[in-house]
Amino acid sequence: FGFCAHSQTQFGGIHTSIYGNNMADYTQFLADEAASLAFAQQLANMLKPSLTVYLAGDLGAGKTTLTRGLLRAWGFEGTVKSPTYTIVESYELEGFKVEHFDLYRFQSPEEWLDAGLDELFDEHTIAFIELPQMATGFVPEADLTIALSVQDAGRLCTITPHTELAQKMLAPCL
Ligand code: ADP
Ligand code: MG
Repeated sequence: FGFCAHSQTQFGGIHTSIYGNNMADYTQFLADEAASLAFAQQLANMLKPSLTVYLAGDLGAGKTTLTRGLLRAWGFEGTVKSPTYTIVESYELEGFKVEHFDLYRFQSPEEWLDAGLDELFDEHTIAFIELPQMATGFVPEADLTIALSVQDAGRLCTITPHTELAQKMLAPCL
C-alpha cells in the first residue's frame, strides 16, 4: 500500500491542498472492500489514543468497513457491528479502547449531552464518529477527518489532519 510509501504510483492520489492551518491532506483510492481493509491496517499503525476522528461520507461510503478494518488490525476478532441503532459500540483493546459512534438516529444535537457521551472520551481512547454533524456544537472537535466517497466501483478516501497532534501522527507518511 502506498499510504506510507513515497512512491507516487502506489500512492496515486496524493495532493497537498492547503487548509487555513497549512496542513496537507492525503488521498487514496480503494478499489474494493479488501483494499479498504488493507488501508486500515496501514492507518492502524498511525492512529494513537486520545484522537477524535470524524468519519465523513454518505450512507454506504464505507465508514464502518474502515473502522472494522482498524479494529481487526488492532487485534479485535469479534463482531464489529454498525452503531447505527446503538449510537455507540465500545471496544477494549490492548492498552486502549475504541469508541465507535454513529449519530444517524439523532433527532437533535443536544442528545449528545443527554446521553452523556462526553464521558466516553479520555486519553486512553480513540473515538470514531460517523455523522458528527448530527451533534454540531456538542460533539468534541476532530483531530482528523477521514472522508469516504463512492468512486466507480471503489471508494476515494481523504484524510485531513486538523490538529498538530494528528499532523504529527501522520507525519511519517508525508
Ligand atoms: P457506511 O458505514 O459508510 O454507511 P459501510 O462501511 O457499511 O458504509 O459499507 C457499505 C458498503 O460498501 C458495504 O457493502 C461494503 O462492503 C462496501 N465497501 C466498503 N469499502 C469499499 C471499497 N473500498 N470499495 C467498494 N465497496 C466498499
Ligand atoms: Mg456506517
